[in-house]
Amino acid sequence: MTGSAFIPGDLFLALVQHGKTVSMAVVKSTSIIQDGRSVRDVVAGTIGNPQANIKLVGQIMHLEATSKMQATGILTTKPVIVTVPGILVELVNPTVVDARGRLSEQAAKGLNSAGTGWALRNSSLDFLLAKLSQSLSDTTAGLRAIPKVGESVHFPYKLPQGQVALKSESGTALVATNPAQRCLYCPEVPKNWRAHIGAHILRHLRGSGEPKAKKNTPGQIHDSMPCGLCGRSGRPECEVTMKPNSKKSDSDMKTDYQYYTQFQYKTADEGKSKGSCRNVPIICGLCPGPARQHDTVPGIWRYNMPDHLRMHHAEYALPQQPEGLPLPYSVRKSMEISQEEEAAMGVRPEFILQPFTQVASAAAGGETLKRASESSGGIAKRGRR
Ligand SMILES: [Zn+2]
Ligand SMILES: [Zn+2]
Ligand SMILES: [Zn+2]
Repeated sequence: MTGSAFIPGDLFLALVQHGKTVSMAVVKSTSIIQDGRSVRDVVAGTIGNPQANIKLVGQIMHLEATSKMQATGILTTKPVIVTVPGILVELVNPTVVDARGRLSEQAAKGLNSAGTGWALRNSSLDFLLAKLSQSLSDTTAGLRAIPKVGESVHFPYKLPQGQVALKSESGTALVATNPAQRCLYCPEVPKNWRAHIGAHILRHLRGSGEPKAKKNTPGQIHDSMPCGLCGRSGRPECEVTMKPNSKKSDSDMKTDYQYYTQFQYKTADEGKSKGSCRNVPIICGLCPGPARQHDTVPGIWRYNMPDHLRMHHAEYALPQQPEGLPLPYSVRKSMEISQEEEAAMGVRPEFILQPFTQVASAAAGGETLKRASESSGGIAKRGRR
């Protein structure tokens, strides 16, 4: 299939890390990224070529051994999305089968309405698992190159006796010998990953000078809406969703597992002490709420709020754009970064952003304005327009 086109909808195999184990997943591609841009198709034979710089995005399928000879894969209703570099992908040519009657009752519930599944030969799965494990050992990026996901009912695949199926022994060994994750942007092994990346992001946003990018890394923090966990933008697995009507915000934030380090949401949001990194996803008070009570809305990293406002609520005033409607007090408050925090994140004094006071008063915004610490208040500053 060297010369044929690979298109969204085609299947591929990839190694995925879950906890301390690496195993193979069957993935249905949803999009193809080449040189950072989404493309409609690529020549199948070029996917593994590092120069082609291809990444495949797709949904992990449910897979079951349905006979000694073959396994049947189906799409699930709540797919896990992964992004995999082309050099760590193997393509498969499955047979399309009617999956009804082949799968366990539990899996059959997740069948798409047509009941379509993909049958794969066990022998070729084993062969391709060995090939992928070899490629993983060979790549310099190592484990950083493969997606990390949380365990679910559909993945990792299990053997009838409950052990992990299609496990990569060499990949799993790599996890054991490589526990600490180095920063993507400097040589450190951060203890508090979120705060460390947050510091890189804030310094970049303020133009306050960042160390030179390491080799074999994403390079610089991305300019637009960088993910608070990896500093990159536009990756589907970095998307954060939040439940606005939930009381326990800790468990209701969902995101990128690859760089996800557990943190107490409330503590991180409020800041443990003066100067703590408060870059956590928040809910924008200007965006429409969820359509239904239990729906989720996108979470926006606090440091990215000015960017978000510029792109989605340009009618409001910002430090960089003083003309416009005064920001509602609660929105301003939600995106506030203290001078102590800027300094603690390593922003040099001359680049620290001065407090922005062009916000709505109680009268204009219909909200209570806490005047105690704001001697001149919002009204006086607004009068300058
Ligand atoms: Zn760093
Ligand atoms: Zn990310
Ligand atoms: Zn918004």
